[in-house]
Amino acid sequence: MRKISVSALALAFSISASACAIAAPPAIWSQPAKPFRITDNIYYVGTRGLASYLLVSEGQAILLDGTLAENAGLIEDNIKALGFNLEDVKIILNSHAHYDHAAGTAQLKRDTGATFMAMEQDRSALESGTPEGDTNYGIIRFPAVKVDKVLHDGDVIALGDLHMTATLTPGHTKGCTTWSLKDTDKGTERQVIFPCSISVAGNALVSNKGYPDIVKDFRISFERLGAMEADIVLPSHPQVTGVFERKTRLDAGDKAAFVEPGLLQKIVERSQAAFEKELKAKQK
Ligand SMILES: [Zn+2]
Repeated sequence: MRKISVSALALAFSISASACAIAAPPAIWSQPAKPFRITDNIYYVGTRGLASYLLVSEGQAILLDGTLAENAGLIEDNIKALGFNLEDVKIILNSHAHYDHAAGTAQLKRDTGATFMAMEQDRSALESGTPEGDTNYGIIRFPAVKVDKVLHDGDVIALGDLHMTATLTPGHTKGCTTWSLKDTDKGTERQVIFPCSISVAGNALVSNKGYPDIVKDFRISFERLGAMEADIVLPSHPQVTGVFERKTRLDAGDKAAFVEPGLLQKIVERSQAAFEKELKAKQK
């Protein structure tokens, strides 16, 4: 099985690390992508540069992440192209309260009629459309969206056969949420994880008045994520794990293209090293 090289991974991280901090969104974030199936019940419905995932069981679906506001229509088209109705989406979840992952949620919630659930620590940011915490790029607002059900660390969302666990992995935002579940993949059971962002991405690590505990929280999350098991890692920025390269391999007959135990730990180690380096530089 071909592995993504460390340098490719490093490049992906540097892209995603700066991604959340860019005021003018990169064009790739809004480039349409054909939706596709990853495991038996998980589909990619996002764009080339920002991930949105549809999880389906018994004709009902959970949608994870709305991405940019202008992408909501593309995500809806992708859901329909897979043969589902927008009304099949019963629950919408969010990785974290930044505009590149949450801005499309308000429209998607309206158009599907789904219940929006989010971690309590991101609730006020989502409901005000205003991210909390100090950054080096100012505040990038997004359409506010009401949280219908407030979640807490360890909560399990059930829909049909889907049982998704919410793990609080704060730092990147206060309520940054890692989602995980077991799904079958062509007959084999896989542990699937949707890790929340753990890049610094312009967040102020020193003297952050809006988020004084940011350093402590990042370190808690490196530990928590590093200890989690994952056969398949599905990130919110698809470049981080080469989602589209893996899709190409899947099409070429590599049935395990998305399977890479240990990948999550590699991501955590690299992110933590970048974090500690940046923290040290800021503390000088
Ligand atoms: Zn972010």
